[in-house]
Amino acid sequence: MPAEISTLQKTRALPGVRELLTDAVEAVGGTERDGQVRMAEAVARAIRTGEHLAVQAGTGTGKSLAYLVPAIRYAVEQHTTVVVSTATIALQNQLVDRDLPRLAKALKKPLGREPTFAILKGRRNYLCMHRVHSGAPEEPEDSGLFDAFTVSRIGRELKRLHEWSSETETGDRTELVPGVSEQAWRQVSVSARECLGAARCPVGDDCFAEKARADAGRVDVVVTNHALLAIDALQEQRVLPEHDLVVIDEAHELVDRVTSAATAELTASAVSAATRRCGRIIDADTSDRLLEAGEGLALVLDDLPAGRLDTLPQALGGAVTVVRDAAHACLTALGSERKEDVEEATARKLARSAVEEIHDTAVRLVDAFDADQANRPDVVWISNDTYSSSPRPPSLHVAPLAVGGLLRERVFARSTTVLTSATLALGGRFDTLARQWGLPPEPTPVPVDDGTATDKPAPADDADDGLRWSGLDVGSPFDYGRNGILYVAKHLPPPGRDGLGDATLDEIASLVEAAGGRTLGLFSSMRAAKRAAEELRERLPYEILCQGDDSTSTLVAQFAEEPRTCLFGTLSLWQGVDVPGPSLQLVIVDRLPFPRPDDPVASARQRAIEAKGGNGFLTVAATHAALLLAQGAGRLHRSSNDRGVVAVLDSRLATARYGGFLRASIPPFWPTQDPAVARDALTRLDAAAPGRSSTSTALR
Ligand code: SF4
Repeated sequence: MPAEISTLQKTRALPGVRELLTDAVEAVGGTERDGQVRMAEAVARAIRTGEHLAVQAGTGTGKSLAYLVPAIRYAVEQHTTVVVSTATIALQNQLVDRDLPRLAKALKKPLGREPTFAILKGRRNYLCMHRVHSGAPEEPEDSGLFDAFTVSRIGRELKRLHEWSSETETGDRTELVPGVSEQAWRQVSVSARECLGAARCPVGDDCFAEKARADAGRVDVVVTNHALLAIDALQEQRVLPEHDLVVIDEAHELVDRVTSAATAELTASAVSAATRRCGRIIDADTSDRLLEAGEGLALVLDDLPAGRLDTLPQALGGAVTVVRDAAHACLTALGSERKEDVEEATARKLARSAVEEIHDTAVRLVDAFDADQANRPDVVWISNDTYSSSPRPPSLHVAPLAVGGLLRERVFARSTTVLTSATLALGGRFDTLARQWGLPPEPTPVPVDDGTATDKPAPADDADDGLRWSGLDVGSPFDYGRNGILYVAKHLPPPGRDGLGDATLDEIASLVEAAGGRTLGLFSSMRAAKRAAEELRERLPYEILCQGDDSTSTLVAQFAEEPRTCLFGTLSLWQGVDVPGPSLQLVIVDRLPFPRPDDPVASARQRAIEAKGGNGFLTVAATHAALLLAQGAGRLHRSSNDRGVVAVLDSRLATARYGGFLRASIPPFWPTQDPAVARDALTRLDAAAPGRSSTSTALR
């Protein structure tokens, strides 16, 4: 930064957050909203006091502006970088392509300079120019894995990647349109472990990943994702620029994303790929030992059923130990870095990285069973088709039972953290998620006149590890009670194990007919979504799109475009559909979205909480369902003019003891259990939709 600007900024008091927010809202053509102002002021307070903040801000609050304005002000004032993390690419793109450019222009004058921003992803997302230039060593292919057609497709993709490498300015994979397969991309990219290091790499000065990191360290706001945030927390070597403020948007996804980043997998094919990487670098006896260990693992895994492992079967324990020891021998033979030409150094680095991963995972798998069941840090399971959408050989997985400790020590203890989402106060309280994040369950009391605190009771004993946090629900500008109905089909039998019953299918058909299409069907399984789609195609004149028929983005675009179509699907639709207007006036939920009883991580977490005297079902399964249900119901209102019905066809929402907790987690729609009321409302909305004759938009 030029000295004169730096001096000017040091001596010039910046406008307050409230003033900056007014400028920003005016510049982007919006209107100031009470919830947005309250949120911005609470974020400013968190920055000032260092107290972490959880903010629930419903759709329409304008929450990105509410956290970006105080965060940018802090970055400019303190000449530092703040980190904003998102769960989805959609939000990441919205921030970088829309919100931040507009905000930077709007704040240029009041802040004295235009704030800067950049996006930072994991190394694997950038083209590795060393691999592009050297063309070697190629990913050793198992010829049995790919057919001739696939091999020639990968060849064509690689050619295109080489051409693109001389045009791209960022090397960012998402800028390559159309994209390429994972197999092709892997041949021109490296993981952090595989990278030679900029100092040693012959093209380190032109490295896209290094450039992105360097840029990130110079800007005011770095936008990243929860996975990279987790990797930054997990590794000793930091991947994010130095920062003392992090904003975690879509924070309801944080625990799942961090768990995924900390999950490791061991497969026989990964062992054999690592063996091939060792190739001619080490002696044949040592690499053959690893190859045979992998074959032994495959044989044992083939004989075992899928599912969580509470004890390590003897044969499996033996096979994993053999893999561990054989990998260790390979690592010893590979040795550490030495003076050799770049090609040899690259081959050694790739081999070491692959074998290290096998070794570390095998060690973690064996160690996972050391402690008493109640005190184990990890959960281990075998998966095959049961847990995978596409057929693949069985594999072993190890995942952390909890990620709160990691987040507490490596995120909250290092930086002031603002967590936000439309869904954080489950059952009306933040404590459930706070526990999962590793924060004390009760927030820290804040002065009454501050106006930003919830009315939670004071903690019996002050914050664990000195961590202090507060929770704030700024509500939503949408009038849910006037514009939305929550219809719970109490008269239906509770959902059984055999999929959708006839009564449920009849109910779906009658609701969709009343709505005139315009329905998003959120199902708990693909089997149920397909069954409902097939049945309704027979009964109704509307087009029923079903997830899997085409890419999800194409289906969502068609659904948005043609109001009388319906879209049925499962998990990714629960959170990923943003369709305002008359195309979406009915959201159907077939059953409460509890995790599957055989979900290894959820069931192990539930059991661990019960072993400590807690309510495992409420803490894990009901929390999971509440988060998804709130997200699913939130699909209905994407703009202030949206009206419609959320129909939950699982009577347990009305009858079960946990029903109140779940209902309190979703927006405050007007409730009914009368199917006729729901159908009448849908019929009126259909008649009033654009292009129809009626103009009455009354919902009730
Ligand atoms: S520094 Fe690493 S990622 Fe960058 S070009 Fe070299 S090997 Fe590839």
